[in-house]
Amino acid sequence: MPLTGIEIFKLLPKTNCKECGEPTCLAFAMKLAAGKAELALCPYISEESKVKLEEASAPPIRPITIGVGDRALKIGGETVMFRHEKRFENPTGFAILISDAMDESEIDDRLEKFSRLQYERVGLTLRPELVAVRNDSGGADKFGAVVAKVMQKGDCSIILMSSNPDSLAVGLKVCADQKPLLYAVTKENLARLVDLAKESSCPVAVKASGLEELAQLTTELTEAGVKDIVLDSGARTLRQAFEHQIVIRSATLIKKLRPLGFPTTIFPFEMTDDPMKEAVFASIFVAKYGGIIVLSDFRGESLFPLLVERMNIYTDPQRPLATTEGIYKIGTPDENSPVLITTNFSLTYFIVSGEIETSKVPSYLLIKGTEGLSVMTAWAAGKFGADVIAPFVKNCGIEDQIKHRKLVIPGYVAAESGGLEEELPGWEILVGPREAAHIPAYLKEWKP
Ligand code: SF4
Repeated sequence: MPLTGIEIFKLLPKTNCKECGEPTCLAFAMKLAAGKAELALCPYISEESKVKLEEASAPPIRPITIGVGDRALKIGGETVMFRHEKRFENPTGFAILISDAMDESEIDDRLEKFSRLQYERVGLTLRPELVAVRNDSGGADKFGAVVAKVMQKGDCSIILMSSNPDSLAVGLKVCADQKPLLYAVTKENLARLVDLAKESSCPVAVKASGLEELAQLTTELTEAGVKDIVLDSGARTLRQAFEHQIVIRSATLIKKLRPLGFPTTIFPFEMTDDPMKEAVFASIFVAKYGGIIVLSDFRGESLFPLLVERMNIYTDPQRPLATTEGIYKIGTPDENSPVLITTNFSLTYFIVSGEIETSKVPSYLLIKGTEGLSVMTAWAAGKFGADVIAPFVKNCGIEDQIKHRKLVIPGYVAAESGGLEEELPGWEILVGPREAAHIPAYLKEWKP
């Protein structure tokens, strides 16, 4: 059960030394209680208090890791109902379904799609993480063979799906060191799966028929020493699954119900046969707390929007995506190439650099750090005026790379051109287009 600020305060040294960055121990305690500070910031907490505080400050929804290395997927660890309260921590994982009853060519086709369907956007690689291998054949050996194939060909984390513990045991033999998710513990096979999970130290998914049974099963699992759990409430209609997602999150965060304090898994393809509806349902659960979403297949036209939605939902709403300040070369510019400047809001950078690339005019793009604000917002906030642009241009090193002294500023800050000419003697300030889409036409007219 989480502690209140006052309860935390009682466990702190109460010396008000300020080393944690807070003026008093009480202020630090309040921040800890609100989940806005890390325990490690106070170096003077006794070991005994640390154990109590670590337990109490653990996120209400337990973080779970599936897989190992670069492809490991971390889910859970969430602390808020709504992202604007703080932010959502660990993005939903997407899995493609592979049945061990599929023929070889279909399995190959799905593994190929898994590897191919990844996208670059605002400097990030968006891609799915998981392959869910389902034991539809009923045979343990067949299941093991398909898991081996996925291991060999797929750069992914794995979900082993079977109601038969013998099949799961065979699948585990093939990939236990990859720490797959074992799906699923039910009331019928709980004892056997506890053994498998403990022997392999792998996380388990628990499947119930309703929230009460779910809470009972997770309680039994945790009492048996299995703590890395993913929930499947058994809901297979959109309405019921949606309700369960809300109840699980609010029961954990508001009512502090530990037995439901785990991430969830969702199967939209078991709610509809229509691939587009499946994608729409998946999008609902990206926004509403899905830890893992298993899709019947991957299609670029639906996977890409889901990946972009996930990226947007899981960014910090209080911190815009920002690009590093500096000089960016687009193409292979030389000493006569144009020099443009804009702000470091990632979307601005990628739109402007994309339009420069489209123009096929090699250019230098200066990115001025504006705390991730777009051109107009940064200008209005005093972060993209002549007084800050000029020192940056002088100090960034661009003068050593070009012979001319012409700087193209965004059309939206045309009002800064006079000030810039005063602050940058010898430079000619050119007012570029207001809209990035007009940059290619503008650059085609460029003369040093
Ligand atoms: Fe108190 Fe620890 Fe912060 Fe010092 S560092 S003020 S002892 S909480």
